[in-house]
Amino acid sequence: MKASKRKNKPGKIFILSGPSGSGKTTLLTRLIKDKKIAKSLVKSCSVTTRPRRPGEVQGKDYFFVGRDEFRRLLKAKKILEWTRYLGYYYGTPKGPVEKLLKEGKNLGLCLDLKGASTLKKIYPRNAVTIFVLPPSIGALKARIEGRCRETNKKEITQRLRLAQKEVLAASHFDYRVLNRNLRVALQETRKIFFKEKT
Ligand code: ADP
Ligand code: 5GP
Repeated sequence: MKASKRKNKPGKIFILSGPSGSGKTTLLTRLIKDKKIAKSLVKSCSVTTRPRRPGEVQGKDYFFVGRDEFRRLLKAKKILEWTRYLGYYYGTPKGPVEKLLKEGKNLGLCLDLKGASTLKKIYPRNAVTIFVLPPSIGALKARIEGRCRETNKKEITQRLRLAQKEVLAASHFDYRVLNRNLRVALQETRKIFFKEKT
């Protein structure tokens, strides 16, 4: 499509959802690093009250805020959608999403089931929902443990318990990607992006 035509079309919203540890963030980060995709796909940075994990960067992985600040943003209607996950709040900042879509940029977000469903309702034509499936609960456990040594046993159990419920929703999504082999899963996600992008 010519650049002039693309300018008038709003961008698409690529929502990656699925259990914690299934690989949503890894897939989205790698997709954005792809030379052919980098210019047309932007990752939305969510706001969260969850503590920062070692290696996570403020303003890149998340905007880490306190509960009061999160409530203030909600009250000021600066959050497009939000959820509560294992006691912490997570939300998508509204301003950047609206601006980027208007500019015709494609957006990538990693959201829980509630967030995916809310955004699909707000943007029924523009939202593309992708459910990332882990190969097994055992693999999921190993990935959650491997990602952050500080994740305590209770939290791992809670994330896995939620995962077992979450996978039941996979059939409601536009696409499903099995993330067993990262290279294969990335290739599938890439295909979906090129098929659906503005
Ligand atoms: P999510 O964003 O869905 O919670 P992450 O992208 O943070 O999951 O991935 C969780 C962990 O699993 C990370 O340490 C990541 O490097 C690893 N991982 C992702 N995909 C694979 C894969 N296909 N095989 C093995 N490990 C993977
Ligand atoms: P984590 O603590 O593993 O980073 O995230 C927990 C869950 O919250 C994941 O399913 C993640 O995709 C989801 N999440 C992250 N940011 C947002 C957001 O802004 N909105 C919603 N609805 N879910 C989010």
